[in-house]
Amino acid sequence: MRILIIFALWLSASCVQGQDIQPLPLPSHCSAPRTGTVTHVMLHYISNALQKPESPYELAPIIDIFVKYKLSAHYLIARDGSIYQLVPHNRVAFHAGKGRLPHPPHHENALNGRSIGIEMMAIGTAAEMALLGVKNYDAISDSDKGFTDAQYVALIWLLDKLEQELPSFQKSKLTVVGHDAYAPTRRGDPGQLFDWEKLQLPAG
Ligand SMILES: [Zn+2]
Repeated sequence: MRILIIFALWLSASCVQGQDIQPLPLPSHCSAPRTGTVTHVMLHYISNALQKPESPYELAPIIDIFVKYKLSAHYLIARDGSIYQLVPHNRVAFHAGKGRLPHPPHHENALNGRSIGIEMMAIGTAAEMALLGVKNYDAISDSDKGFTDAQYVALIWLLDKLEQELPSFQKSKLTVVGHDAYAPTRRGDPGQLFDWEKLQLPAG
């Protein structure tokens, strides 16, 4: 009986939540050695809607975007909540670019070095995706816009895990930030369709 209970607890802690992390390392030209400590997590979205609006979340073409443009994030969360690790924590991923956080520490033009980047497979509002053009945006099915429940579950699990593993990072409304908060004139992700309330972040 006791073994059964322990097994049930183990199941509820691991399998039922369905979370694990699948390694999918990007080539090293997409990242650099890290020197500073991690204080922030930055959230993004990515898709292949420009090339294939009717099927924007195929994994291989999205990985190709990172490789081709020498971009990266530490994690990629698929629509079904699968989490892929693309870059190890001890390397800097190229996801934030130039910008400035609205609250100190501003990490002006230096957030890559101090953050973990998380990409979610998602598509924002028509205004955020203006680059796509109206025709491509209209070809995207409504179910492919915004974020899935499985992605929120995976993200919350991942933020808790990062907090446990990185002593210099404590999740809060000030330390988990959107690309749109850092570089509002350039970037619209994760954008208006992302529900920050679901993360239940402490005020910080
Ligand atoms: Zn971004």
